[in-house]
Amino acid sequence: LLPVLAIVGRPNVGKSALVNRILGRREAVVEDVPGVTRDRVSYPAEWAGRRFTLVDTGGWEPDARGIDASVADQAEIAVELCDAVLFVVDSRVGPTATDERVVQLLRRTDRPVFLVANKVDDAAQEPAAAVLWSLGLGEPRPVSALHGRGVADLLDDVLKAL
Ligand code: GDP
Ligand code: MG
Repeated sequence: LLPVLAIVGRPNVGKSALVNRILGRREAVVEDVPGVTRDRVSYPAEWAGRRFTLVDTGGWEPDARGIDASVADQAEIAVELCDAVLFVVDSRVGPTATDERVVQLLRRTDRPVFLVANKVDDAAQEPAAAVLWSLGLGEPRPVSALHGRGVADLLDDVLKAL
């Protein structure tokens, strides 16, 4: 059985864009409208000659309990079934209440968690990523899923943990 890498985070942070960047093709649906990815979608992936399963999450309809609860539910299911977690945050927005909710959940897992500061498209955005140290999940890893910046370094470290 291949190791499973789950990508969690609230809608619109760029989870599907990161999936496509890792796969090297446009397979996951990237949308300006939050919530397009349906439930969990698994993709066979390979990096540096190692194969693993990549799980994209989404599909939460804001229900009666609100978006925070449904994002947390999705993240919880994904964390249960994976070997390592990429927690994606939008560095241009900074940590939100929904992000904090996922952080609570991730603090309880014994799986390795990588804090991904997405949308760092250039060096000028790096300080925005550093703000995410405040989440208490260790070093924020600045990446641009859209342009590929930082993704190779991140994946090299993730594979060591898988
Ligand atoms: P998801 O809901 O978390 O799966 O987010 P998507 O992958 O669908 O992306 C949401 C929006 O953020 C889309 O408009 C993307 O083009 C945009 N986006 C994703 N990654 C980046 C990035 O690295 N930089 C910038 N500037 N925009 C991004
Ligand atoms: Mg998505």
